[in-house]
Amino acid sequence: MTDIAALSERLATLTGNRASAPRLRDGVLTLVLDVSDLPPAERVTMVEAVEREARTVPGVTSVRIAQTAEKKERAIIAVASGKGGVGKSTVSANLAIALAKRGVRVGLVDADIYGPSQPRLLASEGEKPQAQDKQIIPIKGAHGLPMLSMGHLVQPGQAIAWRGPMAANALGQMIDAQWAGVDVLVIDMPPGTGDVQLTMIQKHKPAGVVIVSTPQDLALIDAMRAINLFEQAHVPMIGLVENMAGYACPHCGEISDPFGTGGAESAAGVMGLPFLGRIPLSIAIRTASDAGTPPAAGEGAEAEPFFALADRVKEWLDRRHG
Ligand code: ADP
Repeated sequence: MTDIAALSERLATLTGNRASAPRLRDGVLTLVLDVSDLPPAERVTMVEAVEREARTVPGVTSVRIAQTAEKKERAIIAVASGKGGVGKSTVSANLAIALAKRGVRVGLVDADIYGPSQPRLLASEGEKPQAQDKQIIPIKGAHGLPMLSMGHLVQPGQAIAWRGPMAANALGQMIDAQWAGVDVLVIDMPPGTGDVQLTMIQKHKPAGVVIVSTPQDLALIDAMRAINLFEQAHVPMIGLVENMAGYACPHCGEISDPFGTGGAESAAGVMGLPFLGRIPLSIAIRTASDAGTPPAAGEGAEAEPFFALADRVKEWLDRRHG
């Protein structure tokens, strides 16, 4: 490998793939560095680090770094449900982690004002985000996932009393936070079809929505209301996930169906929506989630359905970017 090719590899790691291939001519090394979304202090540190690294290459007498800051479009994926308790937060957290493990640069926003559970699910309870240049800096949750939750911004229970504009304002602050290096934001929406949903749709324009439902008829009827809301607003449907579908016996692994199964898949078929998969009701999923160790962060059988879901969502994202 040439010195320049080796430098190029080192710079890719050093900058998180923000540096172009370097060129060396008459002792002058030139490259382009994408500093989009980096706070000013980090920009300076990165430019200095790149220059230092470049100067270690024999024959380099000076280094020229052109900085670019394209405003990149960040794709928002809303995870929504018709009602609470169907596992929307569990699915959001594990989807985000599974996407990160598949190489997607992802962050998570917990917009569920009624029960912000992401700090517990992602082991960041009690943390308070800092701000810089009036922007909130996300917290690192389990598996290093950048995240922000209503639960980090207010006391437990406080947000429930908020009227629409306050909740909308908090949502905006979280979405416009310093998501440097994040291309996809997974948003754990509150259940139902209230003010936060409307703000989300009108102001933040999600790229797509994933609907989570359990297989029972009643849950599906609620889910259809949520689907209608997003469809009427022309938000693209990524598809429907069936959670708590079949009970995975912790002893023998056999699946039984206390709530029935397949309801969401057939509802998706009737409505012409993609079906994204089925996540079993499993004690291991619940205990791992409660302990702040999301199943998708591990390697166990419980992780698999979340990876299958993440693959479908990633395919959808890739198709969208053509
Ligand atoms: P929502 O966000 O829809 O209110 P949660 O994700 O908070 O729902 O889940 C509600 C409860 O159900 C939590 O205790 C969670 O651990 C549990 N849960 C969610 N999905 C599963 C599953 N597939 N298997 C077992 N428990 C689950």
